[in-house]
Amino acid sequence: MTIPDIIIAIDGYSSTGKSSFAKKIARKFNFLYLDSGALYRGVTLFAQEEGFINRLAEINRALKDALAQLDLHFGAEGKLYMGPRCIEQQIRSMEVSAQVSPIAAVPYVRAWVDEKLREFGKKGRIVMDGRDIGTAVFPNAQLKIFMTASEQVRAQRRYDELVAKGENPLLEEVVKNLRERDYIDSHRETNPLRRAEDAFELDNSEMTFEEELAWVQGLIQGKFGIL
Ligand code: C5P
Repeated sequence: MTIPDIIIAIDGYSSTGKSSFAKKIARKFNFLYLDSGALYRGVTLFAQEEGFINRLAEINRALKDALAQLDLHFGAEGKLYMGPRCIEQQIRSMEVSAQVSPIAAVPYVRAWVDEKLREFGKKGRIVMDGRDIGTAVFPNAQLKIFMTASEQVRAQRRYDELVAKGENPLLEEVVKNLRERDYIDSHRETNPLRRAEDAFELDNSEMTFEEELAWVQGLIQGKFGIL
């Protein structure tokens, strides 16, 4: 099936499987996959390492100026780099997860990330996942999907991911982090997480990857009149 050079925007709560789904779509239809959350995580790691966040999780205003020097980019296999350093592993840690949402709520951080995302979007033929892609970054995206899944399924997924990466999390900590992030992400003032009116909702609590792909394929065929 060949599909046109569209932008596919995927939003939803934490650990609903957005990035795995987006990667599958990218592979299947030969699209470029972009993980907007990775950039927020990269800014958070930078802020932690450079001392822009103190122990009370307060954010030093000097971060705004420092962002002008920050080089975050995607390298081979979509991994995130800070300058020459691959930071893919560090940005997925619990430490970064614990502080990313307050950082992502800061308007100048969002503006910095949005500019980068829109630059990527000029290439077209991309699938991007996040919290505000269909509502704010690409409100004209031709296909929008909003993902949900039960809290139990989401927490178990995140837990398994962390264990696979060699971390030793407590399931309660993972649940707490998901709840906190979802709350902050949906209640912040600038571009909060919400479903775009024209987004198709996908609850994948009990779906396999194959079923998800069949669902999106049907959607694309219907929407773009492809046989
Ligand atoms: O997608 P991921 O869980 O890696 O995103 C990490 C965090 O980055 C989210 O919890 C959210 O606070 C922030 N984010 C956002 N807007 C996006 C993508 C991510 O605010 N488009």
